[in-house]
Amino acid sequence: MIPAAFDYVAPTTLEEALAALQQYGDDAKILAGGQSLLPVMRMRLNAPEWVIDLGRIESLRGIREDGDAIVIGAMTPHSVVAADPLVAQHAALLARAVERLADTQVRHRGTFGGALAHADPAGDLGGPALALDAQFVIAGPGGPRTVGADDFFVDLFETAIGEDEILVEVRVPKHTGWGAHYEKFVRVEHQWSICAVAATVRISGGSFAGAGIGLTNMGATPLRARGVEEALLGRPASEDTIRAAAGRATEGVDPPSDLNGDADYRRHLAEVLTRRALLAALSRAEG
Ligand SMILES: Cc1cc2nc3c(=O)[nH]c(=O)nc-3n(C[C@H](O)[C@H](O)[C@H](O)COP(=O)(O)OP(=O)(O)OC[C@H]3O[C@@H](n4cnc5c(N)ncnc54)[C@H](O)[C@@H]3O)c2cc1C
Repeated sequence: MIPAAFDYVAPTTLEEALAALQQYGDDAKILAGGQSLLPVMRMRLNAPEWVIDLGRIESLRGIREDGDAIVIGAMTPHSVVAADPLVAQHAALLARAVERLADTQVRHRGTFGGALAHADPAGDLGGPALALDAQFVIAGPGGPRTVGADDFFVDLFETAIGEDEILVEVRVPKHTGWGAHYEKFVRVEHQWSICAVAATVRISGGSFAGAGIGLTNMGATPLRARGVEEALLGRPASEDTIRAAAGRATEGVDPPSDLNGDADYRRHLAEVLTRRALLAALSRAEG
């Protein structure tokens, strides 16, 4: 289908984009890579009168180091995140997740911030963002504010970003030396996750000294598996510890049932994938 008619504006600064959002209010929609918004507009599930394209705002693009964090601009394409040496060194979990996200074409056009702002519970970046304690920098008429990953995902396709706000960048605390793995379960490669587990661990003196576990498509939002993390910390870095900890992967989950699998099947998957993700993460951890 062809989208309903709309007007288009492509500001070159964040301030201009925020002013346009203020001016057009509910009638406007932000356009990033268009990989989720354009299909929705073509199906006429959304028909904004104004589309505000962030594609010309250079300051929203790129990856840099800032003290104990790496900072990823919202408009950075997935393909750039996947290939970036800072991400590989300090946030390997993101690299592992992005390389499993969609196909080459989508990774080339779709953006890191767009995917997180879209907040599809089956999206592959929410779980890793939770596991890595990412911080979201959101700009609005009152200036910038920072929201932690735990508070960013509010509900199905809903985040803490207000209608008059723009996600500017994501700050990811460095996890240098941590092992990481993203275990994604799909029927056909390049599909959305039926279920996936993001795991990153730090090993010290033969024990788990740090752990971050995020679950994809196990509820209305991406979820953090705190029970699994608790069951790992301070315990020997062994398969036995991992097996016991993975048994807590379904605490607090509320998975959907659909043609790809019912809720019980997804609960089973979550445990199996958590075990696999942790074993792979452990094999890559330093120390
Ligand atoms: C065929 C196909 C397969 C895919 N498979 C996967 C997959 O396996 N895993 C996965 O995770 N994703 C997948 N995706 C989605 C992909 O990750 C998209 O890139 C992503 O969902 C949206 O990013 P975008 O930059 O294209 O944003 P857009 O589509 O432009 O925008 C998405 C939404 O976020 C809002 N938005 C965008 N940027 C901002 C911002 N900076 N501030 C505030 N609001 C903003 C928009 O207004 C819109 O509502 C797939 C997409 C396609 C087309």
